[in-house]
Order: sequence, then structure tokens, then C-alpha cells
Amino acid sequence: MFRSITWRLTFWYSLILAVIIVTIGIVVFGSLYYILQATTLEQVEEKAAAINELIINERQKNYPGLTDERILGFPVIEDFFVQITDKNGEILNVSVNLHGRLLPTTLEKQKKIILINGHPFAYVSIPIKYKNDVIGYIQVARSMKQVVTFLKSLIKVLVVSGIFGLCLALFGGYFITRAALKPIDAITTTAEQISRGDLNKRIPLKGPKDELYRLAETFNRMLNRIEENFKKQQTFVADASHELRTPITVIEGYANLLARWGKDNPKVLHESIEAISRESRLMKRLINQLLNLARADLDPEIGRQEEIKLEQLVEEVCQDAEAMAEGLKIELNIYKGAVIKGNKEAIRQALMVLVDNAVKYNVPGGKVEISLDARNGEALISVEDTGIGISPEELPYIFERFYRADKSRSKKIQGTGLGLAIAKNIVESHAGHIDVKSIPGKGSCFTIHFPLDFVPAK
Ligand code: ADP
Repeated sequence: MFRSITWRLTFWYSLILAVIIVTIGIVVFGSLYYILQATTLEQVEEKAAAINELIINERQKNYPGLTDERILGFPVIEDFFVQITDKNGEILNVSVNLHGRLLPTTLEKQKKIILINGHPFAYVSIPIKYKNDVIGYIQVARSMKQVVTFLKSLIKVLVVSGIFGLCLALFGGYFITRAALKPIDAITTTAEQISRGDLNKRIPLKGPKDELYRLAETFNRMLNRIEENFKKQQTFVADASHELRTPITVIEGYANLLARWGKDNPKVLHESIEAISRESRLMKRLINQLLNLARADLDPEIGRQEEIKLEQLVEEVCQDAEAMAEGLKIELNIYKGAVIKGNKEAIRQALMVLVDNAVKYNVPGGKVEISLDARNGEALISVEDTGIGISPEELPYIFERFYRADKSRSKKIQGTGLGLAIAKNIVESHAGHIDVKSIPGKGSCFTIHFPLDFVPAK
């Protein structure tokens, strides 16, 4: 419990407050003690001076002065204890309230706090001067009892109010800190639920938009991304398994056929081997593409970084296209050459996806036009075909993994739905993008944009 931030904050907060209270207490007590002591000593000194004046006046009128009991008898004396000595310290006169007790005789000027019978007294001793001669001394003392009583009460008040304040701070601090840190509890609870596999849980966002609100917001955003990626991954695995199952089922079917009839029926034998090899090729391609995607997911900057002369690359791709495209016209337009940096083989692969599609989804006697241009700080490679086209509703999805437009499926054009996803990955890892325009029944045009100032990460 005491390890929690709430307790630690409360502890430090209270400790600091305790130090402040004690310091203030000491300062208040110390200064009051000093002020009261100085004031009492001053009052005693004033009293001594008044008696001194009285004695000198008496002396001038030739009255006995020093020994006159009336001087110390009158009511002005109150709680001041007075003693008069001759210049040798012989006691001549004492105030009645001394009741036979004596004050210390000091034959010099003095002003201090002394202890008499263990009690503190403000004590002053002054010489009585008459015509430049010291004729005696006056000692006046006043008990500090009242001051001590007052200071004792003050200590009690300070201690009690200090403890009360501290308790208030302790409890108040604890509850305020706990309330302030409550959102962290919510975050922890949510994180716990998530760690148990509940990925769709989110932290409720309430209260002022402070640091904790922003933390919760960031946490939720992070969770959205994780959940999205997780779902994508799940769909990807499910789709991949599904796509792999079809060729395997076909191969299995033909293998059974072979086992039963293959040995005696050459037609079945031939057909089965043909089908098995076709499906194996499809599977091999699918697995290769899956590996490609997985690799690109792990590290989009995968591979070497080299200077690629796009003009040369496009020409090579064009030659490959000519070899693939039976009955199609392949046209190459190089408006302006460009050099970019990146992985040449990966970019060739991306281009081949576009060219392969342009051939695959074309119509007999159609055309594929490959162009290279450089303008507005970009290198542009476009692959245009006169094929079946893509409907506007399907256009947003063609770059998704395993997506295949209905027409391609119904026309039984072979494909995995991974080509464009791979091409998109490769182009984006070179800071580029692909855009597409298509008119169903007329043809499509895919354009790859590469920024010419892109410096790949090392
Ligand atoms: P695949 O070609 O293996 O099916 P792709 O990811 O390359 O997978 O393409 C996804 C889908 O986009 C294709 O199934 C097809 O429906 C559509 N498509 C791609 N290129 C073209 C094109 N040039 N013409 C018409 N449709 C295309």
C-alpha cells in the first residue's frame, strides 16, 4: 500500500508541510521570546531610571535619599523588586515586596535575565551618580513568570494547531492525490483487461483535458492501431489459409484420381499431372508472394540501396512484357529519363505486377502502353491497358491483400489478389505512391510516382 504513488506523494507533501510548520513555530516562538524579554528588561531599566531620578531629587533637597523607605514604599513599585546599596554594595534599602529576601548586588551597570531560586527574572543594576560621584547602586528585578506562562501557552497552541494542520494535510493530501490519480487506475484496469485478451476495451475519456487525459487519449489511439493491425493480421492469416486450401484440395483430388484410375487410364494420368503441376505452380507463386509481403512487413527498407536508371529498368520490363503478351501490342514511351535510389529488384517486381495485370486483364488484340516521365520533382512510370477495367466501387479495394474484383474471378483469370498489395508496399517503402484510373470495359492506367529527392534510410 505504502508503495503507491498516492501514499508517497502524501508522505512527501506532509513531510514538507511538517518542516514548514516546525520552522514557522520556531521563528514565531523565538521572536516573541526575544521581543518579550527585551520589553521586560526595558521596563525594568525605565523603573530603575525613575527611582534614580527620585533619589537624586531627594539628595538635592538634602533628604536622606538612599535610605528613605518611602522611596521604595509607594505604589509605583508594583511587581518590581528594588534594592538600593551604597557604593560598596552595602544594602541600604529594599522594596517591601521582597519580604526580607535580597537581590544579587552588582557594583556595575548591568541588564540581563538572571535566575533567582530557579525562576527567571529581568534584572537591571545602575549606578547612582551625584555630582560626578557614584554614591550607590539601584538593582531592579521583575519576574518573567507571566512571559514564561504566555510562552508555554503559545507552545501548546503551536503544537496542537501544527498536529491538527498536519493531520488535515495528511488526509486531505491523500484524498486529493487519490482523486487526481484516479484516471491512472482506469488506465491500469483497462491495460489489465487488454492483457487478458480483451483488445476492444478503451479508457473512458472524462474530466479536464490535462496530462492524464492526454495519456488516456494516446493510449486509446495506440490501442486502435494495435487492434486494427491485429484484425488485419487475423484476416491475412485466414485469407492466406483459405487461398492455400483451394490448390491443396485440387491436388488432393487429382492424387486420389491418380491412385484409383491413373495407372490404367492415360487420359486421367495426363490430365491429373497437368492439373497437379498447374496448382503447384499457383501455390508456389502464392507462397512466394506471402513471403514477400511478410518480409516487407518486417522491414519496409529491406534490401540494397542502389542507383536505379529507370529508363533502363523500364526497357527491360518492356522486353519481359513482350515475351509474356501473346497477341497484345506492347508500346514503350520514354518522355524523360530519371534516376532514383532504392532496391532495383523490388522495383522491377512492382512494375512486373502492373505489367502482368495489364496483360492478364486485357482483351485479345489489346494494347499495353508503358511510359516513363519526370516532372514536378517526381519520376512517373505508368502502365496503361485496353483491358476489362475496374468498376468505381471496386477501385478502392484493389490494393488490399487477397482482394480480387468479381470480373476477374468470374472470368477465371488466374491470380492471388496479392500482386497490387506487394507493389504498393514496395513503392511506399521508396516514399512513392501508386494511383489508378480505370473505365470498365475500356481499360486501366496505373501510375507509380517516385519522389526524385528521396534519400533512403541507411
Ligand atoms: P491478382 O491479379 O493476382 O488477382 P492483384 O492484387 O494484382 O491480384 O489485383 C487485384 C485485383 O485488381 C485483380 O484481381 C483485378 O480484379 C484487379 N486489377 C488489377 N489490375 C487490373 C487491370 N489492369 N485491369 C483490370 N483489373 C485489374
